[in-house]
Amino acid sequence: MATPIGHLSDLSPRAAQTLCGVDVVAAEDTRVTRVLLRHAGSAARLISARAHNEQAAAQQIVGLLAEGQSVALVSDAGTPAISDPGAQVVAAVRAAGFPVIPIPGPSALATLLSAAGLREGPILFEGFLPARAKSRRERLAVLAQAARLSGAALVFYEAPHRIDELLADLADRFGPDRLLVIGRELTKVFEEIAALPADQAVQWLAAKPERKRGEFVVAVERDPAPSETPAAEPGATSAELDPAAQRLLGLLLTELAPSRAARLAHEISGAPREALYALALALRGQDEAPK
Ligand code: SAM
Repeated sequence: MATPIGHLSDLSPRAAQTLCGVDVVAAEDTRVTRVLLRHAGSAARLISARAHNEQAAAQQIVGLLAEGQSVALVSDAGTPAISDPGAQVVAAVRAAGFPVIPIPGPSALATLLSAAGLREGPILFEGFLPARAKSRRERLAVLAQAARLSGAALVFYEAPHRIDELLADLADRFGPDRLLVIGRELTKVFEEIAALPADQAVQWLAAKPERKRGEFVVAVERDPAPSETPAAEPGATSAELDPAAQRLLGLLLTELAPSRAARLAHEISGAPREALYALALALRGQDEAPK
């Protein structure tokens, strides 16, 4: 069940009733959830279900359900299983034949989207990017390509100590004019929502030192003018491949053989397979026969 992301009054009446009605509350951090139980007037027993013990917690919860006890699952804030533990517990409980009843409520993702004013269309929710700069940029390259091809907006969660790096990387990847919507401390006293071009985001963050504290969700608006460059004709050379297709191929090649990387890059980007394969071989410096 969902719990507030910063404003206790966002606990729904149904969620409060559930916290008061169950025998056990399985919580990501029992110290955090104790505050919520006190607020709701619940005397439920708290047990721990966090990322590091989730499998064991799932078995414990199945055992409690088998004894006839009722269990609510919460994360520290927001909706479980969205960049939070919970999915393994749900899967184990369902596999054991017990019903799983969702109690919807706050999530930082939906909260930002509700106030972002993005154009209508698909959303690609990533959650947290990798912490290491190189992996983060590689992942961003893949996401940018996927977002461009599908016409999707992107949404990221980010920790305060990495928000400036994320904003700088977004400006690099999507260009200075791409609209970002930054939600900071949503539903809390110092809530801020800034909609601004990517090249102003780092300055916005630096304008007030206290901005670097707090919690962030960042949305990247859809490509305003998705590339309508047609894929080159079959038989095109690798020199004719567009840079995004070349980058995608480079990434796939870090994990796959040239023929598979070329096939996948062709399926994702629509760029000509022969040209991709030729480039893959050139990049790998090997002579693999097409499959
Ligand atoms: N499952 C949660 C949800 O659905 O909202 C998210 C859990 S994730 C571990 C925590 C991240 O969510 C934070 O690092 C931040 O990126 C985002 N977040 C949570 N609360 C927020 C808030 N009040 N304002 C902005 N972002 C928030």
